[in-house]
Amino acid sequence: MIGLRKSLVFTFALAALTLLAAGCSSEEKKYIIATDTTFAPFEYTDEKGSFVGADLDILAAIAKDQGFKYELRPLGFDAAVAALESNQADGVIAGMSITDKRKEKYNFSDPYYVSHIVVAIAAGNDSIKSYADLADKTVAAKTGTEGAKFAESIAEKYKFKIRYFADSPTMYEDVKTGNTVACFEDSPVMAYGITKNNGLKIVEDPSESSPSSSYGFAVMKSHQANQKLLTMFQAGLAKIKQNGELKGIMKKYNLNYDF
Ligand code: GLN
Repeated sequence: MIGLRKSLVFTFALAALTLLAAGCSSEEKKYIIATDTTFAPFEYTDEKGSFVGADLDILAAIAKDQGFKYELRPLGFDAAVAALESNQADGVIAGMSITDKRKEKYNFSDPYYVSHIVVAIAAGNDSIKSYADLADKTVAAKTGTEGAKFAESIAEKYKFKIRYFADSPTMYEDVKTGNTVACFEDSPVMAYGITKNNGLKIVEDPSESSPSSSYGFAVMKSHQANQKLLTMFQAGLAKIKQNGELKGIMKKYNLNYDF
């Protein structure tokens, strides 16, 4: 039989251990941040094989300012959002557009970049000059993105079909080889790709106003524990906007500075 004394000692020891564990884990909390695999210049692998980009620099600057630790998970856009939803990631930074629909599920930081959707075709293709030229053809889009949503919104009107891809490079490749005739992509990413000779060119057709959106950092609304991460991100973002660091990061990657 366990005496009262013994069981009391045990209870206190257990309580002390629990406190200790809680103390340690909050000090060493490492946030899991999910991102895209290739969305240059926001995240991509450079010639030296390092994973770099504006999103990564922004996150690093904010984490340093706010004193939190994180681990980056380049999963792809759709997978990053899925990881966020299943609580396998605490936050997403992936050139993610802040939209009203997404705001129903996620809490976003203030914007750090303004983007819009463009349509691109193979550089040597002279037959597609407008949305109307996409009739009876198949276009490419990236699963779960605003580009895909825009394509879906006008697919019926212009009578084209959509094939979905998990990442941008595979999507570009499909357009270059002529399987699909065009792809829908974010403007800064396509513009950057074209400067790196990705073999594509942008089609300008003003008949549809291409939706513009701002990029923000997202956490899951329903995961209360991550609101603290968002608060830190917000504070750090305000700081790097104000001290010129964000401007410097955008300049480094030849991106517009919108604030
Ligand atoms: N900005 C787009 C979106 O949020 C695409 C993001 C991405 O492909 N990484 O849907």
